[in-house]
Amino acid sequence: MTFLGMPARAPRGVGQLRGDEPFPVAAREALANAQLRRNLQHATTTIRGKSGRVIAELPDWQELRAAGSALKAYTMANLPLLLEQLEEKVTAAGGVVHWAADANEANAIVTDLVRRTGEKRVIKVKSMATQEIGLNEALEAAGIAPVETDLAELIVQLGNDKPSHILVPAIHRNRSEIREIFLSAMPDVDPGLTDDPPVLAAAARRYLRETFLSTKVAVSGANFAIAETGTLAVVESEGNGRMCLTLPETLITVMGIEKLVPAWQDLEVFLQLLPRASTGERMNPYTSMWHGVTPGDGPQSFHLVLLDNGRSAVLADEVGRQALHCIRCSACLNVCPVYERTGGHAYGSVYPGPIGAVLSPQLTGVDDNATLPYASSLCGACFDACPVKIDIPSILVHLRDQAPHPRSEAAVMAAAAYTMDRPRLYEKAQHAAKLARLAGRKGRGLPPPLNGWSASRDLPAPPEETFRDWWRGR
Ligand code: SF4
Repeated sequence: MTFLGMPARAPRGVGQLRGDEPFPVAAREALANAQLRRNLQHATTTIRGKSGRVIAELPDWQELRAAGSALKAYTMANLPLLLEQLEEKVTAAGGVVHWAADANEANAIVTDLVRRTGEKRVIKVKSMATQEIGLNEALEAAGIAPVETDLAELIVQLGNDKPSHILVPAIHRNRSEIREIFLSAMPDVDPGLTDDPPVLAAAARRYLRETFLSTKVAVSGANFAIAETGTLAVVESEGNGRMCLTLPETLITVMGIEKLVPAWQDLEVFLQLLPRASTGERMNPYTSMWHGVTPGDGPQSFHLVLLDNGRSAVLADEVGRQALHCIRCSACLNVCPVYERTGGHAYGSVYPGPIGAVLSPQLTGVDDNATLPYASSLCGACFDACPVKIDIPSILVHLRDQAPHPRSEAAVMAAAAYTMDRPRLYEKAQHAAKLARLAGRKGRGLPPPLNGWSASRDLPAPPEETFRDWWRGR
């Protein structure tokens, strides 16, 4: 066989796609933190309510979801051609396109671009892709200071913490914790700072304003890239993104290759779906779009880094590729009963919640995140909430099938299949199960070594009379 090097998975040892502990271990720790659960419950309930109200205003929400889903399926089916079209349009508009096969390549490209400017500090727009590849750590190792400008990301960065939610990275922090972080880590902060939200926001604004005005390089992600025109788009709520995208001399955008939409008109669908599903707003307060370089206006040097980092491998999986349709709205997190109790850190990846449970294992290879496909009750709330109709439960089941299973489980399944294939044997097994119930196992689960399966599940009691017995009796 000839190994062509594609599709590769996200490499180990760089970025934030793998946790230090399996999900059940990390989740147990999180469950012991009552404050965390209160913060999460309050925040997810508030966002859910707000989102539900604005979605109910649209009579064609289901049609919009179907359109979003179809557009993403079309994009994935034509991704190579659309990416080349995007490269052509961005280049024609004065931008430079770089192709990064993985996190290491993307980090090296961005670090080199910043070095060439001679600058020692960059400002950043909130970006999942740069967190995924560990760009901040790579820049710091090269002596370049990255400054997060999204308020929640800033809280996470100053607190030496990790994000726990796609949209609200500091969802696990309450206002008094945020005050403590500002007092201990924000330069020149007023020592009389209170935990009143407007006071905290004003402190961040003072700190960031100075940074915006004195930094010459910005790094952003992108919510969408339009192949037809070469336009990039970022949506946000605070205006910090707009400052980063317009004030510096150099702008470097790192974007996962799946963020593409084919045509300008397609944004009409996504700009309705995204804000309503994510922040519960009718439209995003700031929608910034840019197109290459405009002489005398905005950054005069623009670089677009197109990131694979395992996405081609996801695309190669006919069931799993739906995960690439995600527009990172976080609606699935806010409705997930598992996420609401454990929070994001337990997932060990920058992508938490239901989408993380299907995306992270596919980007890294299932072996490296084997417990994540089980971080779900398969209740289906994520599927109902997803604005682009990603069937997350089906992908979870598909990935569970690929996860390594203990030999004992494989042996039990083989024995069960053998038994179910043979009616007489099956009937005997049914009678044996009934005897076991009479022998007192009722309510105590399965005997060892199968007791792990029934430790957290109710074992249905065998009926008094099997169907066959009933049938014979008639
Ligand atoms: S999977 Fe769907 S609901 Fe979850 S973040 Fe992505 S687009 Fe939003």
